Amino acid sequence: MKIIMLGAPGAGKGTQAKKIAEKYRIPHISTGDIFRANIKNGTELGKKAKTYMDQGLLVPDELVCDLVVDRVAQDDCKDGYILDGFPRTIPQAESLDGALAKIGESVDYAINVEVPDENIVNRMGGRRACVGCGATYHLMYAPTKKEGVCDACGAELILRDDDKPETVQKRLGVYHEQTQPLIDYYSRKGILKEVDGTMDMEDVFRAIVGILGA
Ligand code: ADP
Ligand code: AMP
Repeated sequence: MKIIMLGAPGAGKGTQAKKIAEKYRIPHISTGDIFRANIKNGTELGKKAKTYMDQGLLVPDELVCDLVVDRVAQDDCKDGYILDGFPRTIPQAESLDGALAKIGESVDYAINVEVPDENIVNRMGGRRACVGCGATYHLMYAPTKKEGVCDACGAELILRDDDKPETVQKRLGVYHEQTQPLIDYYSRKGILKEVDGTMDMEDVFRAIVGILGA
């Protein structure tokens, strides 16, 4: 099962992708997480990506596409995977489709988690990320047991630089301009599935399981 998560930044793609990966036992591949790990490790890729991420811009396609195409060719992806945060542009989608077509495969589902812009600002302002393991929480909707401390690894939680209000507005603009056209792209391919992302997390997950099958 090869799944793509679509949706604005903060729509809940990562939250749902993690649950889907656990239920269907497929790898969860988040390009944002890959870039953040590279930044943390001080790699060349991380240094390049950071200049774009800090401004709320997309990392250029040429730095993203090969990375994902190589990742999905790995052995643990042979029974499928869930892509979270990729593709974000039409050229990225075409690059993935092209790589899959070469091996006679294609994406099975593109799930669009639909959340209006006015909810997004609140979602991202309240998001807290663990500096240790990258786990994501929300001050109101997914609080930790102890304030400011990760439940999973005990490290400190932060507001990501790119979740600050001025950058959120920029990212939303970039989303509408560059990523939203993917909704039509996958709709034309007949694999688009829409989910109301304003419901609470468990209801969103139930709706997705309804689409993918129990
Ligand atoms: P994305 O991966 O699309 O950027 P996340 O999964 O990180 O988004 O979710 C953004 C924030 O909103 C996180 O703090 C998360 O805990 C919270 N969140 C996710 N889904 C919901 C939901 N259905 N209702 C309320 N808050 C949610
Ligand atoms: P995310 O964690 O998915 O919200 O991604 C955080 C940031 O990483 C984005 O705002 C982009 O700057 C960058 N990024 C992640 N995935 C991609 C992608 N597929 N294409 C371009 N940039 C990306």
